[in-house]
Amino acid sequence: MRDSSDSSDSSDTRTWWRRSSRVAVALYVALLAGGCSVLGPKPEWTSLQTPAAQFLVQENTKHTESWAGRVSWFRPVLEEIVGPMQGLERPIVYLLIAERDEYLEYFPKRESVGVHRSIDGTSIVLVDASQPPDLVVATLMHEYAHYYFDARQGPPVPLWYEEGVAEYAEAVTVDESGVTIGAVSSFGIDLLRESALMPVPLLISTKQSDSRYLDTQEAGNFHLSAWALIHFFRHGVPDGRQLLDRYVEEVAAGAAPRPAMLRVYGKTAVALDKDLREYLDSDHFETDAYPLDRFRVKRPAVWIEALDDESTQDVRSLLDSMKRYYQSNEL
Ligand SMILES: [Zn+2]
Repeated sequence: MRDSSDSSDSSDTRTWWRRSSRVAVALYVALLAGGCSVLGPKPEWTSLQTPAAQFLVQENTKHTESWAGRVSWFRPVLEEIVGPMQGLERPIVYLLIAERDEYLEYFPKRESVGVHRSIDGTSIVLVDASQPPDLVVATLMHEYAHYYFDARQGPPVPLWYEEGVAEYAEAVTVDESGVTIGAVSSFGIDLLRESALMPVPLLISTKQSDSRYLDTQEAGNFHLSAWALIHFFRHGVPDGRQLLDRYVEEVAAGAAPRPAMLRVYGKTAVALDKDLREYLDSDHFETDAYPLDRFRVKRPAVWIEALDDESTQDVRSLLDSMKRYYQSNEL
């Protein structure tokens, strides 16, 4: 989900990532590799800094190094989908919470497993790391897409496009044979065919304050429908990628969604809705397949550091500010 307020928080939450990125690296690799006891009791929080992102990892969180490696893939995959990322200077920090109950203390939205917020120029992503690893990876990817759209220069893109791209990108699959973008979940397709598909005119005019974006059930349909429209525009329309870029550019520049759709696609949103429904009835969906080395990222350098008491206090303040934000906005 998206939640990208730019409100600043109290200053005590601001310094910790800057400090930890400046500190000469304390090598706690041994701690992770072998549980070395020289370092004393396990720290409550550990920082994993990679070139792509920083991870603040709560004690007892598993798989963190492999997740940190996967995030290094996200940027080139997303660039393949949305185009080059220029001027992306803002840092991204993932906060990985080990237990579901504790995650819900900070972000008490029962169906959520991750949320992105922009605080004082940094993208903060809170993640419930107790979920199955595949779901956590998909969440890291989904929220990375929000980070990208939030941090990039230029006017905001349409909401359905941002959520659709985030859903589309998180479904990337990687195995020995290569990287696949655009893979279809039969479960999702069934839901769309049965009832979940939101009419295109409604989908493209949805705003962040609308109940169909905020309400749990409707938001599920909104995300799935946004994914479907991205898939259709990329794979089911001639010159689909160029047309989609043009449409997004026009709307971002202030054009009304429905007239822009007619201009770019030569069809009304109602006619495109009919086309989309036919597309979803198909029994074959195209995907984009790439060789592994297309996105091959060298094993990223990872700096691992246990947070000291002061930095741990800063993380707690940050988590408290997430909680207060949730309460004050009744998300
Ligand atoms: Zn989202």
